[in-house]
Amino acid sequence: KKKIAVMTSGGDSPGMNAVVRAVVRTAIHMGCDAFCVYEGYQGLVTGDIRKTDWNDVRGYLSEGGTLIGTARCMEFYERPGRRLAAKNMILKGIDALAICGGDGSLTGADKFRAEWPSLVDELVSGGELTEQQVAPYRHLNIVGLVGSIDNDLSGTDNTIGAASALSRICEMVDYIEATASSHQRAFVIEVMGRHCGYLALMAGVATGSDFIFIPEKPRDDNWREDMVKIVKKHRELGKRKTIVIIAEGAKDRHGEKITSSMVVDLLKDPKGLKLDTRATILGHVQRGGPAVAQDRILATLQGVEAVKTLLEATPESETCFIAITENKIVRKPLMAAVKATQEVAKAIEAQDFSRAMALRDTEFAE
Ligand code: ATP
Repeated sequence: KKKIAVMTSGGDSPGMNAVVRAVVRTAIHMGCDAFCVYEGYQGLVTGDIRKTDWNDVRGYLSEGGTLIGTARCMEFYERPGRRLAAKNMILKGIDALAICGGDGSLTGADKFRAEWPSLVDELVSGGELTEQQVAPYRHLNIVGLVGSIDNDLSGTDNTIGAASALSRICEMVDYIEATASSHQRAFVIEVMGRHCGYLALMAGVATGSDFIFIPEKPRDDNWREDMVKIVKKHRELGKRKTIVIIAEGAKDRHGEKITSSMVVDLLKDPKGLKLDTRATILGHVQRGGPAVAQDRILATLQGVEAVKTLLEATPESETCFIAITENKIVRKPLMAAVKATQEVAKAIEAQDFSRAMALRDTEFAE
């Protein structure tokens, strides 16, 4: 029987459990044995790889976080760590792996697959495994699934977890708005997103906020005057509350960080708006809690496609990740998308926004 393993890696995101459930159950449905790797790459290195049955993933759809654990694993950055990982997989008879994580995890996956044949050679020449033991496992097949609340991966319209984080942010803003409106207060709400303003922008649209700061659209030198003018106008039109949403990576056009406390000071300014203003940094509530239906569905459809991808892969086929493009679940080349994502982050750091946007919109061939 073919053996397929699934793992979650990098920062957790809502929907990762639905991925695990979908991969395990699809693998079993297709006549394979399913395994879970616990604690991300750490579990590959330590050999924490457990056979998983249909019933073991019961109830996974509605659980937040990742029940099989995730970790940052230093050993996996180094070749000896990856060699150990290969050995543990061969000992379990596994040569097909679905990885759900961010761009770092997917980079590690691609490197692991590329190195696999030489890692296997080393295991044999070093006397750790015999030629007979490794013979059926000369090639590793890998597939990526993107678990990230940031929706920051190029080549896919959505990542698993982003819809849940966005829903959570909107819910929190709704709660805050009750107080803001009752006391006629202003609130500055900081949301996650160092290089990607998706959550801030969409939350701003969904809650009708007064002003939004995102990394992709740095404010020009008179952002203070602009914001004051707009907030003042809204107040004059009878609005009893002010909501400003700021992504953690917001900057001005000189690359200087715009912080929530800078915005608070401006709203409070005794010579200006004089608003009773508070800041709320939403932090990890954005990542927590159960996945919304959209993420459960995305994770399930992509988990099914991931298993099909692994079963159809050959030693020659390119390493893929599962994307969603115009509402269709599709396979795309993994490293092209990961490289573009990393280039986007660099372009945003360098304030080259037209390049960043072009890279983010790249359509990678299927
Ligand atoms: P997030 O978006 O939440 O940061 P991520 O998947 O990008 O998720 P990372 O911390 O970058 O998170 O990567 C998770 C793990 O993947 C690392 O701890 C490491 O074990 C492995 N990894 C990341 N990059 C590489 C790489 N270049 N080579 C080998 N392994 C890597």
